[in-house]
Amino acid sequence: MQAIGVLALQGDFAAHQHRLEALGVPVLQVRKPAELEQVAGLVIPGGESTTLLKLLQADDFLPALDRFHAAQKPIFGTCAGLILLAREVSDPAQFSLGYIDIAAQRNAYGRQRESFETIGEITLYEKREPLPMVFIRAPRITRVGKGVTVLGTHRSEPVLAREGSVLVASFHPELTDQETIHRYFLQMVRDWIEKKRE
Ligand code: GLN
Repeated sequence: MQAIGVLALQGDFAAHQHRLEALGVPVLQVRKPAELEQVAGLVIPGGESTTLLKLLQADDFLPALDRFHAAQKPIFGTCAGLILLAREVSDPAQFSLGYIDIAAQRNAYGRQRESFETIGEITLYEKREPLPMVFIRAPRITRVGKGVTVLGTHRSEPVLAREGSVLVASFHPELTDQETIHRYFLQMVRDWIEKKRE
């Protein structure tokens, strides 16, 4: 299989890399925009979204990311990655890529407690199941556009969502021993590769 990229500018990219490699997928740490051309999908990890954004802008990543998204190559953003991919960002507001029609409120979970682990619920392939979820100063999805499918909730609030080739999670699936969400993303990448062949 073609490699999957993990944006490796800042944040917990190594945990995503380990998870994907454990699933037998080659991973490329993406540090330069041109490297996006070598990968079939991209994970944007958690970290600090303002810092990530500054690094992306400094390295002139945005046009390459726009091309990546326009080609419908799958992108998976967790936590800070979700914030970068959202259409609107608040608390405080900052520029975002807008590839998924949701609004994200930063640091909305865990103001009192920096992080917590809980059990949420996901529905993938019409199968509903509980899933342990780790939240670390996580963003809350405060608005979901018409084209967006909510795939996971915590206390009835959306925490996992997809619009076309873009998947986002407010929690950190790379920090639990659950492979479900990464497997789901890999399937999105396989579907894209398949579609390109047709
Ligand atoms: N609070 C961080 C931000 O606003 C995100 C936290 C995380 O990615 N774990 O960027």
